[in-house]
Amino acid sequence: MRKVILTAIVMGLVGAASFAQSTDVAARGDRPDWALVVHGGAGVIERGAMTPEREAQYRAAMARSLEIGSNVLGEGGSSIDAIEAVIRAFEDDELFNAGRGAVFTAAGRNELDSSIMDGATLNAGAVAGVTSVRHPISLARAVMERSRHVMLQGAGAETFAVEQGLEISPASHFFTERRWVSMERALGRMGLPVPSRPDGAPDPEPVDHGMIERDAREHRFGTVGVVALDRAGNIAAGTSTGGTTAKRWGRVGDSPILGAGTYANNASCGVSATGTGEYFIRLTIASRICALVEFGGVDLQEAADQVIQNELTALQGDGGIVALTPEGDIAWSFNTPGMYRAQLTSGGDPIVSIYGDED
Ligand code: ASP
Repeated sequence: MRKVILTAIVMGLVGAASFAQSTDVAARGDRPDWALVVHGGAGVIERGAMTPEREAQYRAAMARSLEIGSNVLGEGGSSIDAIEAVIRAFEDDELFNAGRGAVFTAAGRNELDSSIMDGATLNAGAVAGVTSVRHPISLARAVMERSRHVMLQGAGAETFAVEQGLEISPASHFFTERRWVSMERALGRMGLPVPSRPDGAPDPEPVDHGMIERDAREHRFGTVGVVALDRAGNIAAGTSTGGTTAKRWGRVGDSPILGAGTYANNASCGVSATGTGEYFIRLTIASRICALVEFGGVDLQEAADQVIQNELTALQGDGGIVALTPEGDIAWSFNTPGMYRAQLTSGGDPIVSIYGDED
């Protein structure tokens, strides 16, 4: 019965979707010096559901992310530097489910996951379940560059963050009323008790979700991810998230799992994913798309669509990806009604989109 209901919900999401679009820079015959593609989460983001003010805020934040990334890349900065700069800004923006503004676990905590990968060297770093690090993407980068490990989790990851001099923030820094109320609603549906508010959280206040019509599916927008190509021809990818609302038992999603939520390899492509992580892990979505490009001789957009529109949908998973090749081809693909997304290449015009029927 549960499976039938889940199937109905997922097919509802997928059925309402309008699918992928892309810009094939190489097809225009000019290989860019640098390129950048960004997502701010996928889900049931339908035209008319958000207030115009909230929609404008998202579009402005996505446009700003392009500005931040292009400033780094335009000045000859590395793709890794661009990823970190863009994601740090998202982690401070409470619109997004990363850093401040992250969703809450069923226990009333913000447990943050992040990863970064360098396509030139296949070096990578990832962290899972950190609760006190203001910028999990910087911690993931520190793991990559300053530890002999690839992935750290929980208290150990936090000890490493302190040792590395990264900024530590109290639980109240990550707290937003909007995400707290979403978690309370989710717990209500699950028949679970609501935990007490974190120390230092402000008193409850009425919350403007920026949604004209709210429904049970508005549960987790705003994971952020970036793929960048720098002037040296190197690809990098990074992702940061609070995971899924009311997650339990130390659940970890795809975002910190290399090959699932994040992957970069100069031989093929870079990918950052967003969606229900359980499916992305099982399909190793990010590396699978790049493997199709590298070994299947498949064009990037085709590879992305094959994996998202066919394989993810067949498994009844929901979400999307952004991707980029060393040639500067950009693709995005999602099987949800919307995905916050944006792209820019040197010499090109920025594209910022939300809904499935946009470019
Ligand atoms: N992929 C993230 C996770 O499952 C959530 C999301 O992208 O919305 O943790």
